[in-house]
Amino acid sequence: NKLGQLPPDAGVEVAVAGRSNAGKSSAINAITQRKGLARTSKSPGATRLLNFFELEEGRRLVDLPGYGFAKVAGSMRAHWGSLLEGYFAKRAALKGTIVVMDVRHPMTDHDQDMLALASSRGLPVHILLTKSDKLGRGAGGNALQAVRRKLPPGGLVTVQLFSAHAGDGVQEARGALEKLLDGKPIKETPAGSADPAGVNQPGNGG
Ligand code: GDP
Repeated sequence: NKLGQLPPDAGVEVAVAGRSNAGKSSAINAITQRKGLARTSKSPGATRLLNFFELEEGRRLVDLPGYGFAKVAGSMRAHWGSLLEGYFAKRAALKGTIVVMDVRHPMTDHDQDMLALASSRGLPVHILLTKSDKLGRGAGGNALQAVRRKLPPGGLVTVQLFSAHAGDGVQEARGALEKLLDGKPIKETPAGSADPAGVNQPGNGG
């Protein structure tokens, strides 16, 4: 709940952020194959904390509080805001961020604020457009390209389609998490390919 309470700033970690209900917990569960992880973050009292999970020794995933609650009192929002700003500005172990957005309404103002915050130090960001099973393949590909067009040039922000329910893009997302932890660049699946979610794609790093 406070910067001073975080685990020691050693090793490497990747943060995961998203608007409430975007599918962040489902994505974390699917990527890590450990259901208990995101459930812990949703337990009473934990939804407003930075939740740290050790994947392997010295390699962590950090589940950030879901943002975009209009109902939350201003003082609470200010507290989260300064906590997150401090975290993104100072955390040496942080190597990159995964931002989860619902493919049906991505890049809201809150999402764009989060992208700006997460990339403020020049760290890479990988976007998961979740619930892609809710769209047909054509519409999913169009949504992917529309988001790509809004991203800054330079390749530091990458994006893919993802469905926790259908399993689409889970392997690609797992690869992206590993790349971020290793400090290596993420190679995107070309938009409009026969397999936009990147599943079963040869040479996809899987
Ligand atoms: P969080 O609040 O961002 O952690 O979101 P959750 O993971 O709890 O998901 C919010 C809602 O979206 C739940 O009802 C999930 O079942 C649903 N959901 C999450 N991922 C998917 C997905 O890939 N496809 C579909 N159709 N629904 C999903």
